[in-house]
Amino acid sequence: MKRNILLAAALLLSLILVTACLPGGKQNQGPRKFEAEFIGLFDTLTRVMGYAENEEDFKAVVQGLKDDLEVYHRLYDIYDSYPDLVNIKTVNSMAGQGPVAVDRKIIDLLLYSKDAYQLTEGRVNIALGAVTKIWHRYRSEGVDDPASARLPKMELLEEAALHTRMDNLLIDPVKGTVELKDPKMSLDVGAIAKGYAVEQAARAAEERGVKHLLISVGGNVRAIGARNDQGEPWRVGIENPDYAADDYLAIVKADAVSVVTSGVYERFYMVGGKSYHHIIDPDTLFPENRYLSVSIVTPDSGLADVLSTALFNLDLEEGKKLIGSIEGTEALWCMPDGSLVESDGFADLTILD
Ligand code: AMP
Ligand code: MG
Repeated sequence: MKRNILLAAALLLSLILVTACLPGGKQNQGPRKFEAEFIGLFDTLTRVMGYAENEEDFKAVVQGLKDDLEVYHRLYDIYDSYPDLVNIKTVNSMAGQGPVAVDRKIIDLLLYSKDAYQLTEGRVNIALGAVTKIWHRYRSEGVDDPASARLPKMELLEEAALHTRMDNLLIDPVKGTVELKDPKMSLDVGAIAKGYAVEQAARAAEERGVKHLLISVGGNVRAIGARNDQGEPWRVGIENPDYAADDYLAIVKADAVSVVTSGVYERFYMVGGKSYHHIIDPDTLFPENRYLSVSIVTPDSGLADVLSTALFNLDLEEGKKLIGSIEGTEALWCMPDGSLVESDGFADLTILD
């Protein structure tokens, strides 16, 4: 079902909606606030917010960002192929068949993902594709036909888990090649690619001179600078996993920082009245019910994406330890009963209502 939505979304990809947010702006009164939205990239809605002297200037900034994100989206796609493009889907299709020459952006993402594997002691493993593919299939079938939704058998998951070794991903940065040594292995970069791509695109925008911009790719938020030259921060709301609630879990004061959330509500299906989300614990090969959501605030959006997924697969104490070991990084856990747990410095980053 999701793929159909994506197809429809892809058709809309070229539409950028730009709106000015302040009323009746007279000219030459300083920068006005603008917003733009587009769908399709990373299978989600992208929103960009910023200030500019006029609509043309803002459109140019958004177009530059969108062009960059589109390049990353295609290269990091594991589901779709594009004419004359070697992307991660191609790499997966060549598993067991020797090295594949790839774009430097793929090499960089995969090197970053190896570091993420080390940092999280395997809680985030992009080589888990053989296992996540099974869950993806069962979830798609269960969403399409809820009456016959099933859970994958443990033997099936365990067999797949034999083909998830990170050291079978060989990267040669000098030759510019990657190789999946195990013919049954497969890469799933879903836990990292979006955040990493947003970080790279944001840095490129900064290099083009953008000083203040708020980028949200499906809730993966990265602030370039503060909201304005006066240093007032952006306000980033953290979504409440409870759809019925009309308040945010917290509002983060964002200045040159990223805010990323992983949540059970993003992708899930129901089996026998129980909900199964999309983050797989590499130890149990199942989605665990430790939290409803985990949010990370840290400057680098790639790291934020890695950590929000990693913390899902760690008990609270282990997660706190990991967060405490990384400078300038805070976390918010929403527990199964809806209560909140904050890392030590989280409150300092939020706006009190
Ligand atoms: P995120 O929404 O960033 O937490 O990433 C979740 C996505 O990453 C899932 O939809 C899967 O594609 C993939 N994934 C699930 N479990 C893991 C894991 N333990 N390690 C790496 N990727 C995972
Ligand atoms: Mg993630």
